[in-house]
Amino acid sequence: MQIAPVTHADIDALSTLLIETVAANGSVGFMHPLAEQEAQAFWAQALASAARGERIILGARQDDRLVGTGTLLLAMAPSQPHRAELTKVMTSPSMRGSGAGAALIAALEQAARDHRKSLLTLDAAVIDGATTFYRRLGYRSVGDIPDYAYKPLGGLGATRVFWKSLDAPGGQGSGNTRADDERWMRHALALAERAVSEDNEIPVGAVVVSPDGVVVGEGWNRNIAEHDPSAHAEIVAMRRAGQGLGNHRLVGCTLYVTLEPCAMCAMAMVHARIARVVYGATDPKTGAAGSVFDLLADPRHNHRIEVTDGVLAEEAGMRLTNYFRAKRGKSPS
Ligand SMILES: [Zn+2]
Repeated sequence: MQIAPVTHADIDALSTLLIETVAANGSVGFMHPLAEQEAQAFWAQALASAARGERIILGARQDDRLVGTGTLLLAMAPSQPHRAELTKVMTSPSMRGSGAGAALIAALEQAARDHRKSLLTLDAAVIDGATTFYRRLGYRSVGDIPDYAYKPLGGLGATRVFWKSLDAPGGQGSGNTRADDERWMRHALALAERAVSEDNEIPVGAVVVSPDGVVVGEGWNRNIAEHDPSAHAEIVAMRRAGQGLGNHRLVGCTLYVTLEPCAMCAMAMVHARIARVVYGATDPKTGAAGSVFDLLADPRHNHRIEVTDGVLAEEAGMRLTNYFRAKRGKSPS
């Protein structure tokens, strides 16, 4: 994959990409169907703006074919010389999951740094994984604006506003490697297994690890066994960690949990001053780390928590699915 600024020679390919994105209900400012002429006119104007130094338009190429693009708007108000905005980020449908989108964002961030920009902002429609994509790249959500824009295929949709400081260490600031995260997540998955085998409860496991890499608390769901609506895996693990450390604050600790935390657990993590949360499967019904609520990153808290999601997500999700299938008397998938 090669990433470089686009030129007038790319207008046809850029227009095709834009038309494809709009046809797939991607929110990039246009309605479906988008006429070729209108798409071409948009890119001609955008390229003229790039020539004036107001924006940078990058393209991602695979085997000389343009498979993605993203724009960095540089021209801001005089009071915002340090800010730039990410916009018109799109990848061809055949390239989903290839890392083309993340590579484009990384190149746009580098371009922003080169232009001495320290703050990036963007908005993304609250659909089809777009918001998860930015969260995974270290962008923080400010919240949703309902009925912000019409989706290309019709109907008003919400938009989520994101920002990222380029001065901060960024998305993976803690220095933990993916291998460390996966090792601890395996530990949490083993605890989830015990929820089923020992208590026949929903398989969610959590482990609290101190800044120097020592387990200070473990837990799995114990709601039924303890007649306790608050006995989620995370609460059980944090309770044990607090007792073990003799402190209600778990400063600098990382909490690994197999499922995206709910609102109750997310707030307990904020109260405990947990430094970082790593979770496996997302919970589209009650998740409070971005799926339904985004409590861990809410700027209104005086403590914010770094979040890494999707670690061994498939394995964690499969365990839950199999558990519920077994409950309904079906065989595991
Ligand atoms: Zn919970």
